[in-house]
Amino acid sequence: MPELPEVRVVVNYLNQNVKGKVISAVRVFYNRLLVETSVLDLKDKLVNQQIEGVDAYGKYIIFHLTNYEMISHLRMEGKWIFESDNFFSYPQDLVEAEIEFEHEAKVLRYYDFRRFGTLQLVAKNQWKTLPAIAKLGYEPFDKGASADYLFTKVHSSSRAIKTLLLDQTILLGLGNIYVNEVLFQAKIHPLESGKNLTLQDCALILQVSKEILGKSIEEGGTTIHSFMVGNHQSGHYQKYLQVHGRENLPCFVCGTKIKKINVNGRGTYYCSWCQKLKKI
Ligand SMILES: [Zn+2]
Repeated sequence: MPELPEVRVVVNYLNQNVKGKVISAVRVFYNRLLVETSVLDLKDKLVNQQIEGVDAYGKYIIFHLTNYEMISHLRMEGKWIFESDNFFSYPQDLVEAEIEFEHEAKVLRYYDFRRFGTLQLVAKNQWKTLPAIAKLGYEPFDKGASADYLFTKVHSSSRAIKTLLLDQTILLGLGNIYVNEVLFQAKIHPLESGKNLTLQDCALILQVSKEILGKSIEEGGTTIHSFMVGNHQSGHYQKYLQVHGRENLPCFVCGTKIKKINVNGRGTYYCSWCQKLKKI
């Protein structure tokens, strides 16, 4: 699943390719892509709208249009590709939507291998009030994501820190891969209970999260499975992964074999020597 860095890479790609363009036609080939938006409505409202810019909000992609915002969530395998009308980067039957622009031969296509992605059109400046978005926590890069904020969110919980960091209502944008990496870098055991974390632990988690996510954005994200952007350009962060996907391989710090356990249904990799449970 694309995580925050991958979504940022997609957003940069979209801004480079379609920012400023005016939509002239829209086709939808898979109606269930749309959330609370009808195909007719989408076609009707999008024509003549200019893409003023594209932003990321956690794992959501926000297309800012003249009178609307179009909210895209890629879920497992969604992809936006700007390409020639007669060239398909992926099998044509995976195209769920296609957008044409004025004075532009290329089209913007949305492909989805798993068909879990979503698209929703909302009135301008209303997107932050959507229930799914309003309840989200801060991104690690937000000013609001202070050590105090994170401490307040976790210290009354007996849930595992691994699970708490995946909870998008607490911190926005960290997925399974990066939480595994963040906890290794912060030397915190993934099963450590939220209530055992100190303010300093929270500060460290945020600092490490920003470093890891920042580096990954620079490297174009982590290419795992079929995540790719645009012209098959893939991310390079996977070569920096310290624990994720390294079960039974030696820890880069101490040589202990990396363990893989299941925490709340998610594959969790850690080093049992570098990341010890606190003795409380
Ligand atoms: Zn180690």
